[in-house]
Amino acid sequence: MGELGVDVLLLSVGPDLPYLTGYEAMPLERLTMLVVPRDGDATLVVPRLEAPRVVERPELFTVVPWDETDDPVALVVSLAGPVATAAIGDRTWARFLIELQARMPSTTFRRASEVMGPLRAVKDAEEIRALRRAAAAADRVAAALQAGDIPLVGRTEAEVSAEIGRRLVAEGHHQVNFAIVGSGPNAASPHHDASDRVIEAGEVVLCDFGGTMRVDGVGYCSDITRCVWTGGLAPPSEFRDLYAVLHEAQRAAVDAAVVGTPCEDVDAIARRIITDAGYGPNFFHRTGHGIGIEEHEDPYIVGGNCEPLAPGHAFSIEPGIYIPGRWGARLEDIVVASESGPDTLNTANHDLVVVDA
Ligand code: ZN
Ligand code: ZN
Ligand code: ZN
Repeated sequence: MGELGVDVLLLSVGPDLPYLTGYEAMPLERLTMLVVPRDGDATLVVPRLEAPRVVERPELFTVVPWDETDDPVALVVSLAGPVATAAIGDRTWARFLIELQARMPSTTFRRASEVMGPLRAVKDAEEIRALRRAAAAADRVAAALQAGDIPLVGRTEAEVSAEIGRRLVAEGHHQVNFAIVGSGPNAASPHHDASDRVIEAGEVVLCDFGGTMRVDGVGYCSDITRCVWTGGLAPPSEFRDLYAVLHEAQRAAVDAAVVGTPCEDVDAIARRIITDAGYGPNFFHRTGHGIGIEEHEDPYIVGGNCEPLAPGHAFSIEPGIYIPGRWGARLEDIVVASESGPDTLNTANHDLVVVDA
């Protein structure tokens, strides 16, 4: 905050608050706000009916509950004081920012992610353990998919998506964040919503899923993509060739994710291999995103991000190749940059597995 010229940090709903306090605010109309002055003690302003949910950490922050007839914005204004610059959580409801701006007319508001993004992007050993545990759980679901334990042919994408979600929970996740199932031509849509399309034999099924696994109140995310080919028959050579290019691009980008390498260079390595094979226009998203309390956070593995990878950066490597109307494939692992090289948290089989399921 000192380096950035921020006088007070104001955190409400979203992941920054649990990152600092272990407490996650309900996304409600009642204001919850942690007020962190640069040179003072932190105070958590919280609705009285939610105060029992707060695990008190007196060494970190004081809890100030407000009653239904109180004005919580006035409370925050008085705790913040007459400051020049406030940084407010990116996910804070606009209504609270607008009220704060009206009552703090001489204060400049900036995004709290300027302060929190770089802190959250670098994971400590305990956070890496939490990510590894979540990744291992997701790997077990991917292994079940590849082993043919999850029936595919004759079921709808939505049914398979629901089963993947149930399995994520059975493997220890407390929340499913998404379970994309794209079959046949639907695999060409990267964020396809699992639909009522019935999966057929002899086609690709792209499954991209993840959830949150809680450790001491704060959850860390998993995120993995694997493609399988249904029907017990080998895929056509055209698709095998496409997948071989994808596999090589993904592996090369993982190998390139060493400390000191700019994020955009990692993206460029995957993109170069895919482009050289003639699929350049068919890979139209970034190579990856940071992961932690959120599924998508800093650092982004994307052209234009010249930030060098640092030890503790955790991110996905997930190139994809999509042929509209026909098929598509993506391959995704979570990787942690470390002094001893890229640490791949996901170890599920990277091949295009043919399943008789
Ligand atoms: Zn995504
Ligand atoms: Zn994913
Ligand atoms: Zn991802």
